[in-house]
Amino acid sequence: MAVAIIALAAVSRLYTPRYFVIRLERLEGRGVRVQHIRGQLLEGFTDAWRRGMLWSIVLGGGAAGGISYLLSRRIIRPLTRMEAATQQFAAGDWTARVPPLDIPELNQLGNSFNRMASDLEGVEQRRRELVSDLTHELRTPLTIVKGYLEGLSDGTLSASPETYNRLVRETTRLQRLVEDLQELSKLEAGYLPIHQQRLALGRLIEQVVRRFRDQLSEADKRELIVSIPAGLPPVQADPARVEQILVNLLSNALRYTPAGEISVTAWAATPYVWVAIADSGIGIAPADLPHVFERFWRADRSRNRDSGGTGIGLAICKRLVELQGGSIKVDSKLEEGSVFSFSLPQFLEA
Ligand code: ADP
Repeated sequence: MAVAIIALAAVSRLYTPRYFVIRLERLEGRGVRVQHIRGQLLEGFTDAWRRGMLWSIVLGGGAAGGISYLLSRRIIRPLTRMEAATQQFAAGDWTARVPPLDIPELNQLGNSFNRMASDLEGVEQRRRELVSDLTHELRTPLTIVKGYLEGLSDGTLSASPETYNRLVRETTRLQRLVEDLQELSKLEAGYLPIHQQRLALGRLIEQVVRRFRDQLSEADKRELIVSIPAGLPPVQADPARVEQILVNLLSNALRYTPAGEISVTAWAATPYVWVAIADSGIGIAPADLPHVFERFWRADRSRNRDSGGTGIGLAICKRLVELQGGSIKVDSKLEEGSVFSFSLPQFLEA
Protein backbone atom coordinates (compact mmCIF):
# COMPACT_ATOMS: atom_id res chain seq x y z
CA MET A 1 0.00 0.00 0.00
CA ALA A 2 2.82 2.41 0.93
CA VAL A 3 4.63 1.69 -2.33
CA ALA A 4 1.44 2.34 -4.31
CA ILE A 5 0.75 5.66 -2.53
CA ILE A 6 4.33 6.92 -2.92
CA ALA A 7 4.40 5.94 -6.62
CA LEU A 8 1.03 7.60 -7.27
CA ALA A 9 2.01 10.82 -5.45
CA ALA A 10 5.45 11.04 -7.09
CA VAL A 11 4.23 10.33 -10.62
CA SER A 12 1.26 12.70 -10.46
CA ARG A 13 3.38 15.38 -8.72
CA LEU A 14 5.88 15.23 -11.56
CA TYR A 15 3.52 14.99 -14.54
CA THR A 16 0.11 16.46 -13.67
CA PRO A 17 1.14 20.19 -13.44
CA ARG A 18 3.15 19.82 -16.65
CA TYR A 19 0.16 18.37 -18.49
CA PHE A 20 -2.00 21.12 -17.06
CA VAL A 21 0.38 23.75 -18.45
CA ILE A 22 0.44 22.02 -21.84
CA ARG A 23 -3.40 22.05 -21.94
CA LEU A 24 -3.40 25.74 -21.07
CA GLU A 25 -0.95 26.42 -23.89
CA ARG A 26 -3.20 24.51 -26.32
CA LEU A 27 -6.19 26.57 -25.19
CA GLU A 28 -4.15 29.72 -25.75
CA GLY A 29 -3.23 28.41 -29.19
CA ARG A 30 -6.95 28.17 -30.00
CA GLY A 31 -7.39 31.83 -29.06
CA VAL A 32 -8.59 31.54 -25.45
CA ARG A 33 -6.93 34.26 -23.42
CA VAL A 34 -5.71 32.94 -20.09
CA GLN A 35 -2.29 34.53 -19.99
CA HIS A 36 -3.01 37.02 -17.20
CA ILE A 37 -4.64 34.38 -14.96
CA ARG A 38 -2.27 31.54 -15.82
CA GLY A 39 -0.38 31.75 -12.49
CA GLN A 40 -3.66 31.70 -10.53
CA LEU A 41 -5.05 28.82 -12.57
CA LEU A 42 -1.91 26.74 -11.98
CA GLU A 43 -1.90 27.56 -8.29
CA GLY A 44 -5.62 26.71 -8.00
CA PHE A 45 -5.09 23.45 -9.85
CA THR A 46 -2.11 22.46 -7.68
CA ASP A 47 -4.06 23.24 -4.55
CA ALA A 48 -7.09 21.21 -5.74
CA TRP A 49 -4.77 18.37 -6.74
CA ARG A 50 -3.05 18.42 -3.32
CA ARG A 51 -6.36 18.33 -1.42
CA GLY A 52 -7.72 15.57 -3.62
CA MET A 53 -4.53 13.61 -3.14
CA LEU A 54 -4.59 14.07 0.62
CA TRP A 55 -8.19 12.92 0.96
CA SER A 56 -7.75 9.96 -1.31
CA ILE A 57 -4.67 8.91 0.68
CA VAL A 58 -6.50 9.34 3.99
CA LEU A 59 -9.68 7.55 2.88
CA GLY A 60 -8.11 4.87 0.65
CA GLY A 61 -5.21 4.22 3.03
CA GLY A 62 -7.51 4.17 6.07
CA ALA A 63 -9.95 1.75 4.42
CA ALA A 64 -7.19 -0.50 3.10
CA GLY A 65 -5.36 -0.40 6.47
CA GLY A 66 -8.56 -1.19 8.37
CA ILE A 67 -9.50 -4.08 6.12
CA SER A 68 -5.94 -5.47 6.23
CA TYR A 69 -5.98 -5.25 10.01
CA LEU A 70 -9.31 -7.06 10.28
CA LEU A 71 -8.28 -9.72 7.77
CA SER A 72 -4.91 -10.36 9.35
CA ARG A 73 -6.57 -10.58 12.77
CA ARG A 74 -8.97 -13.16 11.35
CA ILE A 75 -5.99 -15.19 10.10
CA ILE A 76 -3.66 -14.62 13.03
CA ARG A 77 -6.16 -15.53 15.76
CA PRO A 78 -6.66 -19.16 14.60
CA LEU A 79 -2.90 -19.44 13.92
CA THR A 80 -2.21 -18.36 17.50
CA ARG A 81 -4.69 -20.97 18.74
CA MET A 82 -2.94 -23.60 16.63
CA GLU A 83 0.44 -22.55 17.91
CA ALA A 84 -0.81 -22.80 21.50
CA ALA A 85 -2.11 -26.33 20.84
CA THR A 86 1.16 -27.47 19.19
CA GLN A 87 3.21 -26.03 22.06
CA GLN A 88 1.01 -27.76 24.61
CA PHE A 89 1.42 -30.98 22.63
CA ALA A 90 5.20 -30.54 22.36
CA ALA A 91 5.34 -29.98 26.12
CA GLY A 92 3.88 -33.46 26.62
CA ASP A 93 0.16 -32.75 26.93
CA TRP A 94 -1.00 -35.52 24.59
CA THR A 95 -4.63 -34.45 24.88
CA ALA A 96 -4.03 -30.97 23.36
CA ARG A 97 -6.12 -30.43 20.21
CA VAL A 98 -6.81 -27.50 17.87
CA PRO A 99 -10.40 -26.18 18.29
CA PRO A 100 -12.64 -25.81 15.18
CA LEU A 101 -11.54 -22.74 13.17
CA ASP A 102 -13.56 -20.30 10.96
CA ILE A 103 -11.28 -20.33 7.89
CA PRO A 104 -11.87 -23.61 5.98
CA GLU A 105 -8.22 -24.08 4.91
CA LEU A 106 -6.92 -23.48 8.42
CA ASN A 107 -9.64 -25.68 9.84
CA GLN A 108 -8.46 -28.45 7.53
CA LEU A 109 -4.89 -27.94 8.73
CA GLY A 110 -6.16 -28.06 12.31
CA ASN A 111 -8.02 -31.32 11.60
CA SER A 112 -4.86 -32.84 10.11
CA PHE A 113 -2.92 -31.80 13.18
CA ASN A 114 -5.58 -33.33 15.43
CA ARG A 115 -5.49 -36.58 13.48
CA MET A 116 -1.71 -36.71 13.77
CA ALA A 117 -1.98 -35.88 17.49
CA SER A 118 -4.45 -38.76 18.02
CA ASP A 119 -2.14 -41.17 16.19
CA LEU A 120 0.85 -40.05 18.22
CA GLU A 121 -1.17 -40.26 21.41
CA GLY A 122 -2.04 -43.85 20.52
CA VAL A 123 1.59 -44.71 19.78
CA GLU A 124 2.72 -43.11 23.02
CA GLN A 125 0.04 -44.95 24.95
CA ARG A 126 1.10 -48.27 23.40
CA ARG A 127 4.77 -47.47 24.01
CA ARG A 128 4.04 -46.93 27.69
CA GLU A 129 2.00 -50.10 27.84
CA LEU A 130 4.76 -51.97 26.02
CA VAL A 131 7.39 -50.88 28.51
CA SER A 132 5.22 -52.04 31.39
CA ASP A 133 4.32 -55.29 29.56
CA LEU A 134 7.93 -55.95 28.64
CA THR A 135 8.98 -55.43 32.22
CA HIS A 136 6.35 -57.89 33.36
CA GLU A 137 7.08 -60.36 30.61
CA LEU A 138 10.82 -60.25 31.21
CA ARG A 139 10.49 -60.36 34.98
CA THR A 140 8.35 -63.52 35.15
CA PRO A 141 10.66 -65.89 33.20
CA LEU A 142 13.76 -64.29 34.73
CA THR A 143 12.42 -64.85 38.26
CA ILE A 144 11.57 -68.46 37.42
CA VAL A 145 14.96 -69.13 35.80
CA LYS A 146 16.79 -67.52 38.71
CA GLY A 147 14.75 -69.54 41.26
CA TYR A 148 15.47 -72.81 39.47
CA LEU A 149 19.18 -72.06 39.07
CA GLU A 150 19.47 -71.13 42.75
CA GLY A 151 17.63 -74.32 43.70
CA LEU A 152 19.97 -76.36 41.52
CA SER A 153 23.10 -74.70 42.87
CA ASP A 154 22.23 -75.12 46.56
CA GLY A 155 20.89 -78.63 46.07
CA THR A 156 17.25 -77.97 47.06
CA LEU A 157 16.18 -78.89 43.53
CA SER A 158 17.15 -82.13 41.83
CA ALA A 159 18.59 -81.93 38.33
CA SER A 160 15.63 -83.70 36.73
CA PRO A 161 14.69 -83.48 33.03
CA GLU A 162 11.52 -81.69 34.12
CA THR A 163 13.54 -78.91 35.78
CA TYR A 164 15.65 -78.46 32.68
CA ASN A 165 12.56 -78.50 30.47
CA ARG A 166 11.06 -75.71 32.50
CA LEU A 167 14.29 -73.75 32.20
CA VAL A 168 14.32 -74.27 28.43
CA ARG A 169 10.66 -73.18 28.14
CA GLU A 170 11.25 -69.97 30.01
CA THR A 171 14.38 -69.07 28.06
CA THR A 172 12.56 -69.81 24.79
CA ARG A 173 9.87 -67.35 25.80
CA LEU A 174 12.50 -64.71 26.50
CA GLN A 175 14.20 -65.47 23.22
CA ARG A 176 10.98 -65.09 21.23
CA LEU A 177 10.25 -61.73 22.77
CA VAL A 178 13.72 -60.38 22.05
CA GLU A 179 13.71 -61.77 18.50
CA ASP A 180 10.30 -60.23 17.71
CA LEU A 181 11.41 -56.86 18.96
CA GLN A 182 14.68 -57.02 17.09
CA GLU A 183 12.93 -58.04 13.88
CA LEU A 184 10.40 -55.24 14.11
CA SER A 185 13.01 -52.60 14.82
CA LYS A 186 15.10 -53.81 11.87
CA LEU A 187 12.05 -53.77 9.58
CA GLU A 188 11.06 -50.29 10.68
CA ALA A 189 14.57 -48.96 10.25
CA GLY A 190 14.72 -50.58 6.78
CA TYR A 191 17.69 -52.85 7.61
CA LEU A 192 16.03 -56.11 6.65
CA PRO A 193 17.02 -57.07 3.11
CA ILE A 194 14.32 -58.54 0.84
CA HIS A 195 15.58 -60.77 -1.97
CA GLN A 196 12.64 -61.18 -4.32
CA GLN A 197 12.82 -64.04 -6.81
CA ARG A 198 10.59 -66.49 -8.70
CA LEU A 199 8.83 -68.49 -6.00
CA ALA A 200 6.51 -71.49 -6.30
CA LEU A 201 4.16 -70.42 -3.55
CA GLY A 202 2.08 -73.61 -3.45
CA ARG A 203 5.06 -75.81 -2.59
CA LEU A 204 6.23 -73.46 0.16
CA ILE A 205 2.74 -73.39 1.73
CA GLU A 206 2.60 -77.24 1.69
CA GLN A 207 6.02 -77.44 3.39
CA VAL A 208 5.18 -74.97 6.14
CA VAL A 209 1.77 -76.53 6.82
CA ARG A 210 3.35 -80.01 6.97
CA ARG A 211 5.73 -78.77 9.65
CA PHE A 212 2.84 -77.43 11.71
CA ARG A 213 0.83 -80.60 11.18
CA ASP A 214 3.74 -82.71 12.46
CA GLN A 215 3.70 -80.75 15.70
CA LEU A 216 0.03 -81.49 16.39
CA SER A 217 -0.51 -84.50 18.60
CA GLU A 218 -2.90 -87.34 17.78
CA ALA A 219 -5.37 -86.06 20.36
CA ASP A 220 -5.35 -82.51 19.05
CA LYS A 221 -8.80 -81.17 18.26
CA ARG A 222 -7.55 -79.02 15.40
CA GLU A 223 -7.18 -79.87 11.77
CA LEU A 224 -4.98 -78.21 9.17
CA ILE A 225 -6.29 -78.22 5.59
CA VAL A 226 -4.52 -76.95 2.47
CA SER A 227 -6.24 -76.30 -0.82
CA ILE A 228 -4.16 -74.89 -3.64
CA PRO A 229 -5.20 -74.94 -7.30
CA ALA A 230 -2.86 -76.88 -9.62
CA GLY A 231 -1.98 -74.02 -11.95
CA LEU A 232 -1.20 -71.39 -9.29
CA PRO A 233 1.18 -68.90 -10.94
CA PRO A 234 4.60 -68.29 -9.31
CA VAL A 235 5.11 -65.10 -7.33
CA GLN A 236 7.86 -62.52 -7.10
CA ALA A 237 8.85 -62.81 -3.43
CA ASP A 238 11.54 -63.62 -0.87
CA PRO A 239 10.99 -67.27 0.24
CA ALA A 240 12.36 -66.71 3.75
CA ARG A 241 10.09 -63.72 4.30
CA VAL A 242 6.99 -65.45 2.90
CA GLU A 243 7.71 -68.41 5.17
CA GLN A 244 7.95 -66.01 8.09
CA ILE A 245 4.53 -64.53 7.21
CA LEU A 246 2.97 -68.00 6.89
CA VAL A 247 4.51 -69.17 10.18
CA ASN A 248 3.24 -66.06 11.98
CA LEU A 249 -0.30 -66.34 10.60
CA LEU A 250 -0.51 -70.11 11.16
CA SER A 251 0.85 -69.81 14.73
CA ASN A 252 -1.80 -67.18 15.45
CA ALA A 253 -4.55 -69.30 13.89
CA LEU A 254 -3.51 -72.27 16.06
CA ARG A 255 -3.01 -70.15 19.16
CA TYR A 256 -6.48 -68.61 18.94
CA THR A 257 -8.31 -71.78 17.83
CA PRO A 258 -8.72 -74.21 20.72
CA ALA A 259 -10.56 -76.73 18.54
CA GLY A 260 -11.66 -76.69 14.92
CA GLU A 261 -10.37 -76.23 11.44
CA ILE A 262 -7.59 -74.10 10.00
CA SER A 263 -7.51 -73.91 6.23
CA VAL A 264 -4.96 -72.39 3.89
CA THR A 265 -6.12 -71.51 0.40
CA ALA A 266 -4.47 -69.66 -2.46
CA TRP A 267 -5.78 -68.24 -5.72
CA ALA A 268 -4.62 -66.01 -8.55
CA ALA A 269 -6.16 -62.57 -9.07
CA THR A 270 -3.88 -61.01 -11.70
CA PRO A 271 -1.51 -59.28 -11.08
CA TYR A 272 -1.47 -60.85 -7.61
CA VAL A 273 -1.69 -64.21 -5.92
CA TRP A 274 -3.74 -64.23 -2.72
CA VAL A 275 -3.25 -66.56 0.24
CA ALA A 276 -5.92 -66.87 2.95
CA ILE A 277 -5.50 -68.51 6.34
CA ALA A 278 -8.91 -69.11 7.85
CA ASP A 279 -9.56 -70.45 11.33
CA SER A 280 -12.69 -71.33 13.27
CA GLY A 281 -11.34 -69.94 16.52
CA ILE A 282 -12.24 -67.22 19.00
CA GLY A 283 -12.38 -64.44 16.37
CA ILE A 284 -11.81 -60.73 16.85
CA ALA A 285 -14.42 -58.14 17.90
CA PRO A 286 -15.42 -55.65 15.13
CA ALA A 287 -14.11 -52.72 17.22
CA ASP A 288 -10.71 -54.41 17.50
CA LEU A 289 -10.32 -55.27 13.80
CA PRO A 290 -8.79 -51.94 12.70
CA HIS A 291 -6.05 -52.35 15.32
CA VAL A 292 -4.80 -55.88 14.77
CA PHE A 293 -1.90 -54.84 12.51
CA GLU A 294 -0.72 -52.13 14.89
CA ARG A 295 2.43 -53.00 16.76
CA PHE A 296 2.08 -53.99 20.41
CA TRP A 297 -1.67 -54.34 20.03
CA ARG A 298 -3.34 -57.36 21.65
CA ALA A 299 -7.04 -58.02 21.94
CA ASP A 300 -7.07 -59.32 25.47
CA ARG A 301 -3.87 -58.45 27.21
CA SER A 302 -4.08 -60.85 30.14
CA ARG A 303 -5.11 -63.78 27.96
CA ASN A 304 -2.34 -63.09 25.47
CA ARG A 305 0.33 -62.83 28.11
CA ASP A 306 -0.37 -66.43 29.12
CA SER A 307 -0.27 -67.54 25.51
CA GLY A 308 3.07 -65.83 25.04
CA GLY A 309 1.77 -63.25 22.55
CA THR A 310 3.73 -60.05 22.14
CA GLY A 311 1.43 -58.14 19.78
CA ILE A 312 4.30 -57.76 17.31
CA GLY A 313 3.73 -60.69 14.94
CA LEU A 314 1.03 -59.09 12.77
CA ALA A 315 2.88 -55.76 12.57
CA ILE A 316 5.86 -57.71 11.21
CA CYS A 317 3.63 -59.58 8.72
CA LYS A 318 2.10 -56.36 7.41
CA ARG A 319 5.49 -54.74 6.92
CA LEU A 320 6.90 -57.85 5.20
CA VAL A 321 3.93 -58.14 2.82
CA GLU A 322 4.07 -54.45 1.94
CA LEU A 323 7.84 -54.52 1.36
CA GLN A 324 7.23 -57.23 -1.26
CA GLY A 325 4.56 -55.17 -3.01
CA GLY A 326 1.46 -56.88 -1.62
CA SER A 327 -1.20 -56.10 0.96
CA ILE A 328 -2.74 -57.86 3.95
CA LYS A 329 -6.26 -57.77 5.38
CA VAL A 330 -8.36 -59.42 8.01
CA ASP A 331 -11.96 -60.46 8.27
CA SER A 332 -13.28 -61.88 11.49
CA LYS A 333 -16.37 -62.65 13.57
CA LEU A 334 -16.24 -63.05 17.31
CA GLU A 335 -16.65 -66.70 18.38
CA GLU A 336 -16.75 -67.79 14.71
CA GLY A 337 -13.23 -67.34 13.43
CA SER A 338 -10.87 -65.15 11.47
CA VAL A 339 -9.53 -65.00 7.93
CA PHE A 340 -6.18 -63.34 7.33
CA SER A 341 -5.42 -62.86 3.61
CA PHE A 342 -2.33 -61.44 1.96
CA SER A 343 -1.31 -60.87 -1.63
CA LEU A 344 2.03 -61.10 -3.44
CA PRO A 345 2.79 -59.89 -6.97
CA GLN A 346 2.83 -62.58 -9.66
CA PHE A 347 6.20 -63.35 -11.22
CA LEU A 348 6.61 -61.63 -14.59
CA GLU A 349 8.81 -63.38 -17.17
CA ALA A 350 11.50 -60.99 -18.35
P1 ADP B 1 0.58 -61.92 19.32
O1 ADP B 1 2.04 -62.28 19.41
O2 ADP B 1 0.04 -61.30 20.57
O3 ADP B 1 -0.27 -63.00 18.75
P2 ADP B 1 0.04 -60.59 16.84
O4 ADP B 1 0.50 -59.26 16.31
O5 ADP B 1 0.37 -61.80 16.06
O6 ADP B 1 0.61 -60.71 18.29
O7 ADP B 1 -1.51 -60.51 17.03
C1 ADP B 1 -2.10 -59.36 17.65
C2 ADP B 1 -3.40 -59.71 18.29
O8 ADP B 1 -4.38 -59.99 17.31
C3 ADP B 1 -3.33 -60.95 19.15
O9 ADP B 1 -2.88 -60.66 20.44
C4 ADP B 1 -4.77 -61.43 19.14
O10 ADP B 1 -5.53 -60.74 20.11
C5 ADP B 1 -5.28 -61.01 17.76
N1 ADP B 1 -5.23 -62.14 16.78
C6 ADP B 1 -4.27 -62.38 15.88
N2 ADP B 1 -4.55 -63.46 15.12
C7 ADP B 1 -5.75 -63.92 15.57
C8 ADP B 1 -6.60 -65.01 15.18
N3 ADP B 1 -6.28 -65.86 14.20
N4 ADP B 1 -7.76 -65.17 15.87
C9 ADP B 1 -8.09 -64.30 16.86
N5 ADP B 1 -7.35 -63.27 17.26
C10 ADP B 1 -6.19 -63.06 16.64
